[in-house]
Amino acid sequence: MRMGAHLEKLKSRIQELRDLSGVLGLCTWDQETYLPERAHPARAEQMGTLQGLYHERLVDDRVGEWVAGAEAEGLDDDGRAMVRVFIWERDRARRVPGDLVRALALAQSAGVTAWRQAREEKSFTGFAPSLERLLSLRREQADALGHDGQRYDALLEGYEPGMRVARLSPVLDALALELAPRAAKWADAGEAVPPWRGRRFPDAAQWRFTLRLLRDMGFDFAAGRQDRSIHPFTGGTHPLDVRLTTKVDEGNPFPALFGSLHEGGHGLYEQGFQPRDFRTPLAAAPSMGLHESQSRLWENLVGRSRAFWRHYYPLLRHELPEALGDVPEEAFFAQVNRVSRSLVRTEADEVTYNLHIVLRYHLELRLLSGDLTVADLPEAWKERMQALLGVTPRNDVEGVLQDIHWAWGEFGYFPTYALGNLYAASLFAAARRALGHLDDELGRGELLPLRDWLRENVHQLGYRLNAEELVRRATGQGLQDRDFIGYLDEKFGAGRG
Ligand code: ZN
Repeated sequence: MRMGAHLEKLKSRIQELRDLSGVLGLCTWDQETYLPERAHPARAEQMGTLQGLYHERLVDDRVGEWVAGAEAEGLDDDGRAMVRVFIWERDRARRVPGDLVRALALAQSAGVTAWRQAREEKSFTGFAPSLERLLSLRREQADALGHDGQRYDALLEGYEPGMRVARLSPVLDALALELAPRAAKWADAGEAVPPWRGRRFPDAAQWRFTLRLLRDMGFDFAAGRQDRSIHPFTGGTHPLDVRLTTKVDEGNPFPALFGSLHEGGHGLYEQGFQPRDFRTPLAAAPSMGLHESQSRLWENLVGRSRAFWRHYYPLLRHELPEALGDVPEEAFFAQVNRVSRSLVRTEADEVTYNLHIVLRYHLELRLLSGDLTVADLPEAWKERMQALLGVTPRNDVEGVLQDIHWAWGEFGYFPTYALGNLYAASLFAAARRALGHLDDELGRGELLPLRDWLRENVHQLGYRLNAEELVRRATGQGLQDRDFIGYLDEKFGAGRG
């Protein structure tokens, strides 16, 4: 590609912005892992400065001239894709006035403080005014961003570009109708108390095992690392510097095992972008939901499968002889796939998880439209929980106060989890068809053919297509729940009556 003068200027600004965002990623990772306790206020200031600089360099008027100039000079396919993604971010940043951005930041930090306090008091009441304020600012933000009468779309667009309520609602409503009776039928199959209760799973052995899993998945430790944090996440500075975190609990092996598989799935995505896209917005996933599809695919479709544990359970037992020596594979596998109608989203299994999301999605839609008042939210939560899952929280901590998302004023984020589950099932089904013997490979601990299929059909495309277009290209179909429901029926339906 011969670069015109405008494109050259634009490209160098885009690279500068990617570098700033990489450094911000390092600051965030450090904040969650190794930052000394007393350094937090200083770090917040440093990051505020970097974010200010980023914003200024992004919305700069000259950048608009370079974009117009570059388009006039003529762009190739990659150039067009890069400019499209860049303009999307820049336009959204320019539409929201600085006063509103500052008001939101203040309301978010007040929201988190009020939410923590309300959780201690086990009562929603103290959090209500903060939530009210956040909702009103988000409505303002949605109007500033622009929409066709559906405010939720403007917020959803920030996490799931191209997705709309009109497209999403029918899919999630149908999914809930399929799931509720299955959850009722399959719940609490298997022992509630694991056979290893009270035993110790040594930290070092769990840590070694998670590293082995990541290596087998093809995670490149010369271009990334794993550390520990209270809330596991994937971050980093660049596709050649991907930072995973996990959490080890010596009384329970699941947080480390499934945490590492989950974050490893995110990590493979980040490491799978093409070098020619580095330092451009094309080295990115097109949506949060598609990113989540990669973590859920490894955590659930692979990591909770019979084939996977056929290979890995003997190895895990070898690492943890005192805790698992007398636990048969069958008993372990039953715990990995226990279905229960729990109150808490983060503890939910594959069958009930999406019901927790549908509940939040509907409440968010109603809150944002004004159809539901903040004061009525806890009751609405209880009523929907009973209708969808057949359980009722005893207090607000088990109910409406359980997630931090609303304390941050994040509306529109929850659906990305459900999209991740649906896309994961579709991509896994397509990989199975394409690879022919995927279950046999997983049963031998050969995880690379799957990694390579995902690399070719998902990761290396970066942000050239939107999420649903990418899934359609990879699987032959867009967003739908048939692959997901078919997967659940195959796994949980057989023999469970
Ligand atoms: Zn995730």
